[in-house]
Amino acid sequence: MNLLRRHPIALVLLALLLLSALQPLPALLDAVTGTVPPGADLVRPASYTVVAPLSNVLDALTFLSLARARAFLVVWVIGLAAWGALRRATLGRRLRRALVGPLALVLIGVAAVLLPRPVPSLVTSDSTVTVLDYHAHTAVSHDGRPGWRVEDLAAWHAAQGFEASYVTDHNVIFDRPVDASIRLLPGVEWSVYAQHIVAIGAVVPIDRRVYDRDTRALLGLFAELHRQGALGLASLPEYWVNHWGDLDAFVAAGVDGFEIVNCAPKAIGFPASLRARVLQLAAQHDLLVVGASDNHGWGKVTCVWNLSSPSAHGYAANHVIARPIALAQGDWEPWTAAYTQPWLMLRSLSWSERSSWITWILVILIYRAVPRRAGDARGIGILARSLQVFKVRRPQG
Ligand SMILES: [Zn+2]
Repeated sequence: MNLLRRHPIALVLLALLLLSALQPLPALLDAVTGTVPPGADLVRPASYTVVAPLSNVLDALTFLSLARARAFLVVWVIGLAAWGALRRATLGRRLRRALVGPLALVLIGVAAVLLPRPVPSLVTSDSTVTVLDYHAHTAVSHDGRPGWRVEDLAAWHAAQGFEASYVTDHNVIFDRPVDASIRLLPGVEWSVYAQHIVAIGAVVPIDRRVYDRDTRALLGLFAELHRQGALGLASLPEYWVNHWGDLDAFVAAGVDGFEIVNCAPKAIGFPASLRARVLQLAAQHDLLVVGASDNHGWGKVTCVWNLSSPSAHGYAANHVIARPIALAQGDWEPWTAAYTQPWLMLRSLSWSERSSWITWILVILIYRAVPRRAGDARGIGILARSLQVFKVRRPQG
């Protein structure tokens, strides 16, 4: 009881780590069937697992939908500030503590977007499929990260197990050969009448004004892409937010497929019930369904991969493999994000990640449990000395 009073955060965290293991989530799910994909696995590098608390938190922050990210930030900023302000201390100390928590949270958010770090990678035992991304951006896009070259994009994909990616900048065609770590395929993302159409294959420039007048005009783009020998995929979140009532018209006009998972914060909250409706439509008309990292150079991890079979076509040509925490974004109300996101993260841990978390908590507990000698600064010296608790000594001789 005394231990609980002195180290409440560490002990609650330990309890949650064990409790969440009773409701584990798989590392990967097939976004179409909702089952664990056979032959695909998420491999965490040792360096990722050693710092699992940092790795997992940064991943979990990357996979927040926009609405949930806002709610998460508001609740935690207020909570941390209140916790700092209400602890017994002088006024100046309390003010400082009230600022430190929220500031740390913002820094962790920035780290999730920018900090270079080890990332998990998808490996598949099926050599007939290609691990593919259908939708990704470079600095050429108006909202791409400045300086984010195609080579950077390729390295980002390669680190996560991708073998190829279409490069689909906003209204700028990519069709030049690049010597990169993965195969980069030609494409573009056309913006036409509140819809983004990811065009893949041998695309040529179009006059966007022709397709930008109304929904009817936009639908003409699919036939034009077919004339060019390219495919047109309806992108998220636009068809969900702006054209949900037009999906049958999209199919009639020749859309080749739909994104069903997109990792962008505006799109990752696509609800499972609506995904099911799109899957039904796609299955009925033998259309492609795909996942899109929609990477813009920000964030280090993808929430989705595609296992693409060159021998198949239409609905059967592609398997969309996603992180369960990403698929769950649309299932939870935004206001619950402050506790559902950490809970989803903890449930997704592998046993090696869980062991890493527990080790870190114990190391910090030991560090804090050792009484400091007068004049000692906080530091690694105390930690080293604390190991003497376990009588770690060099053998004599
Ligand atoms: Zn995009």
